[in-house]
Amino acid sequence: MVAPRSVRRAVLVVLLALVLPVLTVPAQAQTPSAHRDPGNGAERSTAAATAVPARALVAAEDENRRGGGRQGYPRQTELRVFPEEPADKAIKLGLLPYHAIAPRLNDLQDRSDRVSAEVIGQSTLGRDLYLVTVTAPETPAQARQQDHWRELIENDPRAAARDRGLAAGYKAPVWINANIHGDEWEGTDGAMRVIEDLATTTDPAEVRMLQSTRIYFTVTNNPDGRVAGTRANAAGFDVNRDHITSTQPESRAVRDVVIGTQPLVMLDEHGYTGTTLIEPGTPPHGQNYEYDLYLKHAYENALGMEKAIAGLGHPETARADIPFRDYPPGEWDDWPPIFTPMYAIYHGAIGHTVEVPLRVNRGEYDQLPVEELRRRSGINTDVAATTITAGIAYAEDNRRELIADQIEMFRRGWAGEPQREIPDGYVPGFGEEDRYSAEFPRAYVIPAGDAQRSAPAAARLVDHLIANDVRVTRALHPFRLAGRTYPAGSYVVDMHQPKRGLANVILAEGKDISADVPRMYDISGWSLGLLWGATVDVSREQAPKVRTTPVSVASPTGGIDVPRGRDLALAVADGKDVQAVNFLAGQGVTAHRQDDGTVVVPASARRQAETAAERFGVRFTRAPSGERGPVLRKPVIAAAVSADELFVLRELGFDVRPLSTRALNDGFDLAGVDTLFVSAGLSYSQLTGEARQRLAAFLTDGGVVTRGSTGATFNAEAGLLPVTAVRGRSDANGVVAVSGGEGVTGAGSPAHSFVYSPLWFTDLGSGVVAEQRYAEDGPLVAGHWLPGSADRGPAQAAGEASVVSGVAGAGARTVLFGTEPLFRGHPKGLYSQVAKALYWTAVG
Ligand SMILES: [Zn+2]
Repeated sequence: MVAPRSVRRAVLVVLLALVLPVLTVPAQAQTPSAHRDPGNGAERSTAAATAVPARALVAAEDENRRGGGRQGYPRQTELRVFPEEPADKAIKLGLLPYHAIAPRLNDLQDRSDRVSAEVIGQSTLGRDLYLVTVTAPETPAQARQQDHWRELIENDPRAAARDRGLAAGYKAPVWINANIHGDEWEGTDGAMRVIEDLATTTDPAEVRMLQSTRIYFTVTNNPDGRVAGTRANAAGFDVNRDHITSTQPESRAVRDVVIGTQPLVMLDEHGYTGTTLIEPGTPPHGQNYEYDLYLKHAYENALGMEKAIAGLGHPETARADIPFRDYPPGEWDDWPPIFTPMYAIYHGAIGHTVEVPLRVNRGEYDQLPVEELRRRSGINTDVAATTITAGIAYAEDNRRELIADQIEMFRRGWAGEPQREIPDGYVPGFGEEDRYSAEFPRAYVIPAGDAQRSAPAAARLVDHLIANDVRVTRALHPFRLAGRTYPAGSYVVDMHQPKRGLANVILAEGKDISADVPRMYDISGWSLGLLWGATVDVSREQAPKVRTTPVSVASPTGGIDVPRGRDLALAVADGKDVQAVNFLAGQGVTAHRQDDGTVVVPASARRQAETAAERFGVRFTRAPSGERGPVLRKPVIAAAVSADELFVLRELGFDVRPLSTRALNDGFDLAGVDTLFVSAGLSYSQLTGEARQRLAAFLTDGGVVTRGSTGATFNAEAGLLPVTAVRGRSDANGVVAVSGGEGVTGAGSPAHSFVYSPLWFTDLGSGVVAEQRYAEDGPLVAGHWLPGSADRGPAQAAGEASVVSGVAGAGARTVLFGTEPLFRGHPKGLYSQVAKALYWTAVG
């Protein structure tokens, strides 16, 4: 590279077009959008999701035969074989179809005692997810010793640092994740090649390596996508955006792998960026990392992988793009923890995304000749296998230092030490633009009892923290902290713990990074502390002085605080409450809806209410005397929505029928539908006259809920509520502060919401209610939201309506969301707001 990295970045930002030809900057940096892939972002609002087939696949064999000692290695499983699928998209590329993987692994297990295959879960459609471990055989006692050392590193890093046996004998764990994007196939084939080579090698160096290393492969993290040739999984989720939310079985499976194996190095194999791409990434860097410990290894390992692919001799692999070294800030950042490698860093891994170079998916898949596709996939497989081999070699060559640095990361956590200042030039190009840091609070408290906004939400958050290997304790007595009083049973997250970075990235507010970089790759704000519906308090300096006990599962929260014979009330404050209401409606219980959204359940349905309380953790209180209110039916929703929204609406227990422009034009029957949900793939202007007539008839007594600009356009074209919708920049996103208004969804809603492509409403006509508004004094709490050329930033949105409601002239009760209350199944504390809107609009 010609110019020093920091200089080049500065120049790039200011004088992009003018200066680029002078500097030998990689082509990708000149046209940055070329290597940015969609990931369930703004484009979610273009096409409506269709139903996900619920069919579970049936394998040829149901029983898994367990072989070998469960405690030692190998720990082999005879994998069940899935039926041959001639339409598997991998076949055209000359790559392994999913159904061929289990037979290959079964055969390898027969031939080699270095190979273990296990099933770690099932995909959305029921295909097995495989974990393959390659290592020299271990007796049960040896495997127990490895487990002990792994736990010592995390639980008692000071002792681990002194343990000479550990330094000499702990096998370096390396984890390779492949094919998380289903139509980026070759990671699987490269992984299988490496597994097969290592299974049978007689090379003394490789045999020795397997005695000091355990290599774990999740050979395909998205088998449904692999077969169908889709980036997303079968539920329409981008699995590589789902970490720390974990809505999908594919992301939960690898979450448990990273926790269980505690890798020193991990690679996530993707494609296709034209030139091979190898992280570390650009700024902004995740502020909760021990970034010094990460970067020194990540940079060296990336250089080693680059050198290795150059050695392949293909002209297409002569060099790699290393975003940290080669791209301007914001172009390929490692800020959010939603990506597998970034998530893995918080568990102590040196995590890298690797992108193999040559595109074989999408248009190229359909248009290129088969020979060209296979030539490309061959090179891509070489790159995947070679980066894996080079990554393993790095772990072997640097085993002691990697172990020492993982120990150091956990030690700093336990000790509560600040992150390290990193000097300029720490690795070539490290400078001021790379400095991101966090000040860790001393503790978080998730209160119990009346101090808690929603007990089911608190329990969900606690269980989620534990599932992520964050340590949570429960106070045995009442206590005072930072000026507040907490009841016994309150949860404490003591930030003196090994994975404090992960705890903080989950619970902290986050940061407004709009001014730091011109744009970001994906989301920039998340905060489960603000968006998951639980009250989470922060104590900056003091730890609570109270006896606590470790928690492995949150306490049950459900119950009925009502004498027998009395009507029951359920405040709809959380998605769990919504699930309970929909469950009761499904049981034939006649519930009633009060003006404030509270649901009244007759005393006669007490038995069903008890079931709901136990199943969903909800609490019933005594219903107010007087009118019960109108009958609440479980609404039937016709939904032109994105895949994530469809997933959430079904999870909440609504009866949802997928809808689109075409479906409506093709005669979709609106009879029996209570409410339309419009956020994607429904355009009023593209409806036929006949479809518009059916819609007009529906709108005399049916309800409408919309989200985003697709929904706002529908509102305008169908002549529903008189408002003007104003759009912010399409890639702007983050956590926003909001003020609750009056109305059915605004009252009692959380003080924060989430936006992506933010929208607000002005010129509110008569009868239109502002349910919620963006906070007056700077709504963006965390994320990236620039005004853009239209000057529509947070300052312009401040004080404007984010959610509005009203009754349209034709009669339809209508609610318009400018926020993203269901985004990727993440902001769980906002679900009840949507449900309240659906219940209200459905009372026609
Ligand atoms: Zn990818």
